Amino acid sequence: MADPRGFITTPRQEAPKRPVEERLQDWQEVYEGSPGKVLLPIIGDQAGRCMDCGIPFCHTGCPLGNLIPEWNDLVWHDDWAGALDRLHATNNFPEFTGRLCPAPCETACVVAINRDAVTIKNVEVAIIDKGFADRRVVPQPADWHTGHTVAVVGSGPAGLAAAQQLTRAGHTVAVFERDDAPGGLLRYGIPEFKMEKVVLDRRIRQMKDEGTNFRCNVDVGRTVTGRQLRDRYDAVVLATGATVPRDVALPGRDLDGIMFAMDYLVPSNRASLGETVDGQVTAEGKHVVIIGGGDTGADCLGTALRQGALSVTQLDHNVEPPTDRPEHEPWPMYPKVFRISSANEEGGERVHKASTVEFTGEDGVVTGLKLVDVVRENRVNTPVEGTERTIPCDLVLLAMGYTGPEPEILEQFGVELDDRGMIARGQDFATSADGVYACGDAGRGQSLIVWAIAEGRACAAEVDAHLSGSTKLPRPVRPADTAIVV
Ligand SMILES: Cc1cc2nc3c(=O)[nH]c(=O)nc-3n(C[C@H](O)[C@H](O)[C@H](O)COP(=O)(O)OP(=O)(O)OC[C@H]3O[C@@H](n4cnc5c(N)ncnc54)[C@H](O)[C@@H]3O)c2cc1C
Ligand code: SF4
Repeated sequence: MADPRGFITTPRQEAPKRPVEERLQDWQEVYEGSPGKVLLPIIGDQAGRCMDCGIPFCHTGCPLGNLIPEWNDLVWHDDWAGALDRLHATNNFPEFTGRLCPAPCETACVVAINRDAVTIKNVEVAIIDKGFADRRVVPQPADWHTGHTVAVVGSGPAGLAAAQQLTRAGHTVAVFERDDAPGGLLRYGIPEFKMEKVVLDRRIRQMKDEGTNFRCNVDVGRTVTGRQLRDRYDAVVLATGATVPRDVALPGRDLDGIMFAMDYLVPSNRASLGETVDGQVTAEGKHVVIIGGGDTGADCLGTALRQGALSVTQLDHNVEPPTDRPEHEPWPMYPKVFRISSANEEGGERVHKASTVEFTGEDGVVTGLKLVDVVRENRVNTPVEGTERTIPCDLVLLAMGYTGPEPEILEQFGVELDDRGMIARGQDFATSADGVYACGDAGRGQSLIVWAIAEGRACAAEVDAHLSGSTKLPRPVRPADTAIVV
């Protein structure tokens, strides 16, 4: 055990963030000295708060099965190399989860029953950032090659995890990505202020040095066909994400200035990286309304504030969640509570129990959004009479989630969909097409980075077993696994 009395004597202390006024002036990560510098002095004591529980419930919160008490103990004893080794034992990309995961491990932490949870996420990111700074994260190429070839379509966290596992197992892996650079949503979806691209690039460099091949600007289904990939490769992994956005069918939807969140975020992120983007829509000098909460909505909010929006309103038809864990979601579940993202700290107004009725405009351009308070029961909104009003807006961002993977490419591979519209998989991640596997959001539906990595790792194990007859790769999750529920 780390510090036997740490959880009693040491209060929880989170990684300090830069002042809001400062961070709104730039696109860098919101944390002080990020990546990782200022965090180190506090992190030993924070790791010392871990009780090394006989039954570490933090494990139940994490689909990767991260060895949390082990690395907390190693950090407390100043063995950073050992901690890095234990961290990588279950997670290919702790620098992504350490920055971006909502940390269901922390809500499941035993200390959180009556005190503040161990800062597991901060310890994780400190270990990996120090590992990179100390040049301990080095390529791990396979000792020998199997002669088998695998195509991974999509380079988000699921595709990257599958590719790294399979390359290290000795297979020859090519990752096909239609964007000009790998990373999936980590590249052009998630803004710099949540994770700087240098963090992604240094990991991609390691993967290239291990032998993973990246084929960017290749739109599978158009640049090459599904048939060509199946003929050329011994196995194919589809990790194409759930990219079809949910729309609203309301009067005025076709007005200019109403767009899907990703059509706004991707060019904005490119521009924040110094690219000149033709026709980029910015929030500068505009009243912005974001329809939908969640990560996408928060990323739109932080981006619009940095671009100089006059106002940003975020609409959510759900009731405002409680600030404390509700009784029906007891520990160690991941509760629905009122969460304040770094973007929410920076500004904007959140309006709950409100639903859009109509978009209004002039000369074909949106100028207002008519909304009404609603009572939401069994997923049905009932308007509250007399609450209808119009708020001014010049830019509406639709961030209401994603319905599933794009159908065209799936037709080419001949894979069947399940009743939710996601790629149907067996317990071994195999699709209905021989030798074709699927992992990440494309099969699970929109989810989290930690689940994408866990699925990528498990899917790689199944592909390895299929190609080699057996496997030593870990299978942290099955396709049907979900977070803990009561
Ligand atoms: C704006 C936003 C913010 C988010 N923030 C967070 C967060 O803070 N924390 C968190 O845990 N989760 C977050 N999420 C969710 C998380 O990003 C996803 O769950 C995760 O990225 C899914 O990984 P994936 O590998 O399955 O798919 P993706 O990351 O979506 O990657 C799929 C890749 O496949 C490529 N592709 C698709 N079709 C083809 C084709 N035909 N040919 C070639 N390439 C193709 C796409 O270009 C893309 O690069 C966020 C999601 C969004 C949209
Ligand atoms: S549940 Fe919390 S205290 Fe227990 S081992 Fe996990 S991180 Fe440590």
